[in-house]
Amino acid sequence: MDKDIRRRLLKIYLHMKERCYDQNDKRYADWGGRGIHICDEWLNDREKFFEWSIKNGYKEGLSIDRIDNDKDYSPENCRWVTLKENNQNRRSSIFYTINGETKNLQQWCNEYGISRSMVNRRLSLGWDILEALTKPKRTRDKDTLIGKKYGRLTVLEFSHTDKNRKSFYKCLCECGNYTIVDDQKLKSGHTSSCGCIRKEMYENNRQKFKQQWADKKSYRSFFPA
Ligand SMILES: [Zn+2]
Repeated sequence: MDKDIRRRLLKIYLHMKERCYDQNDKRYADWGGRGIHICDEWLNDREKFFEWSIKNGYKEGLSIDRIDNDKDYSPENCRWVTLKENNQNRRSSIFYTINGETKNLQQWCNEYGISRSMVNRRLSLGWDILEALTKPKRTRDKDTLIGKKYGRLTVLEFSHTDKNRKSFYKCLCECGNYTIVDDQKLKSGHTSSCGCIRKEMYENNRQKFKQQWADKKSYRSFFPA
């Protein structure tokens, strides 16, 4: 690695560390102070950070940017951007006045206990600042499904959301198996067991078919053609 690039990356790395872990750093409140950390991989081994940087297009003049402002510094949540792009994303330079008090967006978010990514999303949809800060989150039916029964399945707990924002739940089947199903399939009745219903149907059909086959054979042996 070029010595110059290494030196620059080290500087970026150390600044990142200060923002996240040095309580005396003046920027700590907006990073470490609100729970932004550096992933273990990078924190324990700066070489890993350097490697990632080169692989992901670091060039002189670019700065590191977290894609989701509420998440950590990590390979998944970081990219290299121009300073201008970074400032646009950060929005910390934008101040809002509410009831005569002026604070930056992050401070308002902290005060109202709402995530900045949510407020950013709302603002970009044209919401008023106070509305964006105070309107309760749309309650998802994440919890309302728990305990309900769909066919043989009882919903135990929320599992995860996939990249299409589908919600998946862990369910217990009457046969004792666990399975993970998305809510649409549960509600529509598309999925009503761990797969055991289908297996049973298949087994039943097989038995029936075997029986028919056996009947046919005995018929044949009785009345040979
Ligand atoms: Zn089952």
